[in-house]
Amino acid sequence: MSITGEMLIGRQAVRGAEKSLHAFNPATGADIAEPVFGGGSVADVGRACDLAQQAFEPYRHLPLTVRAEFLERIADGITALGDALIERAQQESGLPKARLEGERGRTTGQLKLFAQVVRAGQWLAATLDSPLPERKPLPRSDLRMQKIALGPVAVFGASNFPLAFSVAGGDTAAALAAGCPVVVKAHPAHLGTSEMVGRVIQRVAQEMDLPEGVFSLVVGAGNAIGEALVAHPAIKAVGFTGSRAGGVALMRIAAARAEPIPVYAEMSSINPVFLLSNALAERGESIARGFVDSLVLGAGQFCTNPGLAIAVDGDALKGFIATASSALSGKPAQTMLTSGIHAAYEAGAGKLAGIQGVEAVAHGVDATGPTQACAALFVTDAQTFLATPALEDEVFGPTSTIVRCKDEQEMLAVAEHVEGQLTATLQMDRADLAVAHKLVPVLERKAGRILVNGFPTGVEVSHAMVHGGPFPATSDSRATSVGTTSIERFLRPVCYQDFPAELLPEALADANPLDLWRRRDGEITRS
Ligand code: NAP
Repeated sequence: MSITGEMLIGRQAVRGAEKSLHAFNPATGADIAEPVFGGGSVADVGRACDLAQQAFEPYRHLPLTVRAEFLERIADGITALGDALIERAQQESGLPKARLEGERGRTTGQLKLFAQVVRAGQWLAATLDSPLPERKPLPRSDLRMQKIALGPVAVFGASNFPLAFSVAGGDTAAALAAGCPVVVKAHPAHLGTSEMVGRVIQRVAQEMDLPEGVFSLVVGAGNAIGEALVAHPAIKAVGFTGSRAGGVALMRIAAARAEPIPVYAEMSSINPVFLLSNALAERGESIARGFVDSLVLGAGQFCTNPGLAIAVDGDALKGFIATASSALSGKPAQTMLTSGIHAAYEAGAGKLAGIQGVEAVAHGVDATGPTQACAALFVTDAQTFLATPALEDEVFGPTSTIVRCKDEQEMLAVAEHVEGQLTATLQMDRADLAVAHKLVPVLERKAGRILVNGFPTGVEVSHAMVHGGPFPATSDSRATSVGTTSIERFLRPVCYQDFPAELLPEALADANPLDLWRRRDGEITRS
């Protein structure tokens, strides 16, 4: 497939006439000369959104089997791109081949899982309350409820997952599964990869004769087209993964609209790991090695990267720091996704090093390339941490700070103090249960996922996964952006009161023609 540098608006390939963009190879630090990507205008965004609005009604009413097939054929089309897709993504991201192949599998698996979800129809949450005509003092109506698609969704592809959180990533899969047309704003860090995947979606939509506008892909330099996308009246929800500043800016635009809309932004998390005393004493060395491996994975460019470790001070913690320092000092520098992310990493790590009361205890092998990150480990004490908000800032990359606490109480104070997180981890043994019992209720309030004896990097795409959490981890702690329940973000409930049978949606018809599991008078039944 050739990459042309055009946007994909409905069934058209459109060359943007605004400021042009080049893809960038972070390994060489140079632009990729060809093709030039034409930057889209606010009018291009408007056209994509208008088409999405027109597509919404017919798309959401397609049989569920058609919607499911759409997702499956996108997955197959991505697989069929073969090595060309991986090579382009490698060139644009600096990520290793094996990582990108794994990410492609995750992307196609995610699409196919959502196809199963669409077919099973549980997301409809079909609910029937029988009428009670004899009820005194007032009769009860016939009440039926199902969930319907929210409307066109704007998706901002993430820099750190050029496939799995991008054009055909989790947000797009969930929105299309829900019955929502999608307008994707390509991340400037992987323009060619975005076009390749976008062309697959566009082609499948055309082959299946789906309504034009069910999918569009826009490209642009600077914030203007992203702002226009969120502000467009046709857009009814936003999916975003990126910086706290970017997410908050989009939340503000969405809230200031004549019709405010939800923004599901995944932003900033430092993913605290609590090293409980008995686990630390028994197996501190192996925890330290696992911790460092998790920290440097993918050059630390994971939203679940363990940026903070907390433990009670003592010999076991000293041993942990010594092992972690030695493991980290042997870790090679790795190419980061963009020069901007690299610059932000350097600035963030530099800022940590400059904070009074923070000691730099280890750094990885020096960088040899233009955008390479050298891993770093810092140590501070709980009082400094509690008094220094900057120590909570996400440093996107392979850097972590270890917080020494004088006792269990101080560890609990740190847990209470931290901002909202995607994850929190307990490294613990059975002998640590008493303190774990005190930490868990605090961590439930702080994080979307709590792990025991694991490391937070690695997010399974499954039914029970929660990839969310209180602000600033996300803009809405009630949602997850990974896993099948992420479809909920793009649905809303509608109640049908005293509807004649002829007017009822299929999911709520008496005979249950879709063969759904439904809640009928409070009981889950297949009738
Ligand atoms: P970003 O700067 O927030 O950009 C993400 C996307 O949002 C881009 O398409 C960007 O478009 C757009 N955007 C950002 N601010 C906007 C605004 N004010 N108005 C309209 N559109 C806006 O994130 P990034 O480029 O991926 O990485 C930068 C930093 O984000 C990293 O250093 C890291 O701190 C953080 N990050 C966090 C996670 C996480 O999951 N926690 C993941 C990735 C990145 P333009 O660039 O074209 O304006």
